[in-house]
Amino acid sequence: MLYLSTRGDPGRKHFCEILLEGLAPDGGLYLPEAYPQVDAATLQRWREIHDTRGYAALAFEVLSLYIDDIPADDLRVICEKTYTEAAFGTREIVPLKELEDHFYLEALSNGPTLAFKDMAMQLLGNLFEYELGRRGEQLNILGATSGDTGSAAEYAMRGKKGVRVFMTSPNGRMSPFQQAQMFSLLDDNIHNIAIDGVFDDCQDLVKAVSNDLDFKRRYKIGTVNSINWARLLAQVVYYFAGYFQATRDNAQKVCFTVPSGNFGNVCAGHVARQMGLPIERLVVATNENDVLDEFFRTGVYRVRGSADTHETSSPSMDISKASNFERFVFDLLGRDGARVKALFGDALSRDGRFDLSADPAFRDAAARYGFVSGKSLHADRLATIRDTWKRFALMIDTHTADGVKVAREHLVPGLPMIVLETALPIKFAATIVEALGCEPDRPAKFEGIESLPRRVTVMPAQVQAVKRFIVEKCA
Ligand SMILES: *Cc1c(COP(=O)(O)O)cnc(C)c1O
Repeated sequence: MLYLSTRGDPGRKHFCEILLEGLAPDGGLYLPEAYPQVDAATLQRWREIHDTRGYAALAFEVLSLYIDDIPADDLRVICEKTYTEAAFGTREIVPLKELEDHFYLEALSNGPTLAFKDMAMQLLGNLFEYELGRRGEQLNILGATSGDTGSAAEYAMRGKKGVRVFMTSPNGRMSPFQQAQMFSLLDDNIHNIAIDGVFDDCQDLVKAVSNDLDFKRRYKIGTVNSINWARLLAQVVYYFAGYFQATRDNAQKVCFTVPSGNFGNVCAGHVARQMGLPIERLVVATNENDVLDEFFRTGVYRVRGSADTHETSSPSMDISKASNFERFVFDLLGRDGARVKALFGDALSRDGRFDLSADPAFRDAAARYGFVSGKSLHADRLATIRDTWKRFALMIDTHTADGVKVAREHLVPGLPMIVLETALPIKFAATIVEALGCEPDRPAKFEGIESLPRRVTVMPAQVQAVKRFIVEKCA
C-alpha cells in the first residue's frame, strides 16, 4: 500500500513515512493510491471477528490493509494495547445506544478525555512510540488547541518514550473542565502553554515556529493535527463497528450522521464507504460555522475570515475552513491532482472560494458518494438537548445535539440512522445548565479534577517566547 498527495506530486510513500509527517511536500494531503475493497466474504469475516473477538481485533483487520511496514504481530499488539475496556470504559469500546426505533447514538466519547478524538489519538500515541523507538528518534509535538484536540493529544502521549508535547491554548478561554483536564497532567513530557490571546494567535504561533525550518529540524518539531492520515485511518474502524452493531446481516444498509468541523471524522466515513461498507447516506452536520453545509447545498466552498467565524456552544466545530475536505474533493474530481492543486493551492488563496456548482461532478457528491448536509444553531442545540433528556432520560453534549437535530432531517425510511456521539456533556457544562437547569453527570474518574495541582506556563503571544521555552525543555 502506497500513499500519494492530493495535489499531484509523483512521489509515493509507505505508511510509516507519512505517520510522522503533516502535509505532503506539495502542500497536499496524503491518501492511499486506492481504497482496499472489502468483498462480501471479508465483510462477513469482519462481522464475526467484531462479534467474537471485539473492537481491537477488528481494528487490526482494517489497519493491516493500509499498513505494510509494521510486522503483523507488532500491529496486533499495538491495537490490543490501545483499544481496552480500561481506556474506553466498555467491552464494546463504541457501544450503540438506541434512542428510538432505528435511531442510534454510537458512543465514541468514553475514552480518557471524553471526546471522540481519543479514538484516533490513543492509537497515534502507541504508533508514534513504536516508530520513534524503531528509528531511535525523538519528536517534539507542537500544537494549538481550543479544547478537545489538545487534551486528547496529551492523554495519548503522556509518558510515551521519545515524545514531548508542547500544547498552546488561549489563556482562560477553554471550558473550566477542559482546563482542569489538561493542566492537571503532571507528566514530565507534557507542557501546557497558555497564551494571552485567542485560538488564532495560538495557531499563528505554531505556524511561525514550524515555518522556521532551521528551528523545526534542529528541535524535531512535529504535529498531530487532524490532517494526519493515521488519525483518519483509526476512525474508519468505528464505522464498521457501528454498522455491525446496528444490523444483523450485510445485506442491510445504514446511514451515519457526523457532527463536523474539519471534516476528519466524516471523511473516515467516506473511506469506509469507498471500501464497500453499505452506507446509504453520510450526513454532515455543522453548527453556525456552515462552510460544509454551504458546499453540499450549493457547490460553493468559501472559507471564512476570523471575523466571520462564530464562537458557538459547540466550539469544537468552530472552523473557518475544513482542513480535511481536500481529500474528498480529490475523490469527487476523479483524483485529478492538478485540478485539486488549482482549487486548493491557487483559487482558495487568491479568492478564498471556489465554485463547483456548474461541474457535473458536484451532483456526484450526493448521488455517488451519499453526502447530504444540514446545520444546527444554538437554539436547536438547547431544544435537542431538552427533548432527548425529556424523552429518553439521556444527556447529550452540544456537538452530538447538532448531529441528532440534522439526522432527523435526513432519515431514510427503513434504514438505521447512526449519529456519532462526539463528546460527553460534562465537557460543555455551561450549555447543559442553560438547557436543563442542572449540572451534567461526571464520570467517577473526573471527580474533583478542578482542585488537583496544575502545571501550565502563561506566555504572551510571541514566537520568541515559545521558542525559548521549547529550547529550555529540550536541554
Ligand atoms: C473535533 C470535534 C468535532 C469535529 O470533528 P472533525 O473531525 O473536525 O469534523 C466534533 N465534535 C467534537 C466534540 C470534537 O471534539
